[in-house]
Amino acid sequence: MRRFVNLNGQMVSSAEAKIDLYDHGFLYGDGVFEGIRAYNGRIFKLQEHVDRLYHSARALMIHIPISKEEMTERIKAVVRENGETNCYIRVTVSRGVGLGLDPRHIRHEPTIAISTADLALYPPDMYENGLHVVTVSTRVPPAQSLDPRIKSLGRYINNILAKMEANRVGAGEGLMLNIEGYVAEATGDNIFVIKHGVLHTPPPSAGILAGITRATVMMLAEEMDIPVRETMLTLYDVYTADEAFLTGTAAEVIPMVTLDDRPIGTGKPGEMTHRIIAAFREHTQSSGTPV
Ligand code: PMP
Repeated sequence: MRRFVNLNGQMVSSAEAKIDLYDHGFLYGDGVFEGIRAYNGRIFKLQEHVDRLYHSARALMIHIPISKEEMTERIKAVVRENGETNCYIRVTVSRGVGLGLDPRHIRHEPTIAISTADLALYPPDMYENGLHVVTVSTRVPPAQSLDPRIKSLGRYINNILAKMEANRVGAGEGLMLNIEGYVAEATGDNIFVIKHGVLHTPPPSAGILAGITRATVMMLAEEMDIPVRETMLTLYDVYTADEAFLTGTAAEVIPMVTLDDRPIGTGKPGEMTHRIIAAFREHTQSSGTPV
């Protein structure tokens, strides 16, 4: 299906959208992005995604030349133009155009692209039966080199390599550790474990993206009187958890039933996980910014 995209403020058909060959995002992964979902004609956590995009850009000294309000309007306009009610939205901002690494020698006019797509990361039965996950050897980069809180384009080659490791053994996801060996996150999702009725998830300082789905689940859990703790986790904590699940805009909330061939709890999605998934689905349907 041909869709419209917004490229630098212009609404054009996706086939006609052209980006310069020397765009720094294409040449060096020098840019930032967001993946957002719309449910039921409303964009879920739009403000949070736009805020994170601007924070990522600020950390990389990429000056986004339009206001957050203008960005928000552009995102809504693409969803409207494509007549979407449920879709995945991709917002990409690169530093600008120019050959060579040195940002002094490029044109500082960030390329801003907004597009929509259908995206179902896993078939529906996986949400019922849960994912098999393996620990991968690719680690999340330490914040001293590339802070994982920055949702940068270039960072994702690491996650792609990690995903390929998981694919190689037929796993649904790969769990990444940080350099110290603590559990960080999956290749495109945050991780939660439940032990004795308490929800545990690694803190941002473990080297994770501060996921918006993660924050939503923490908020919903509190509303449901489920205690939540941000704490460093080791593989032992996951192997011996009662339940586990992953969260992300693309994957939403999905149970995780094994890690490295060890069943988590009963090896089936747990009761609390089911409750959290139900609360999350209900929240996505009943909140968000109308387009
Ligand atoms: N970690 C990584 C590495 C991701 O790419 C994502 C997806 N954006 C997440 C976690 C989950 O974040 P969110 O819930 O904001 O989509």
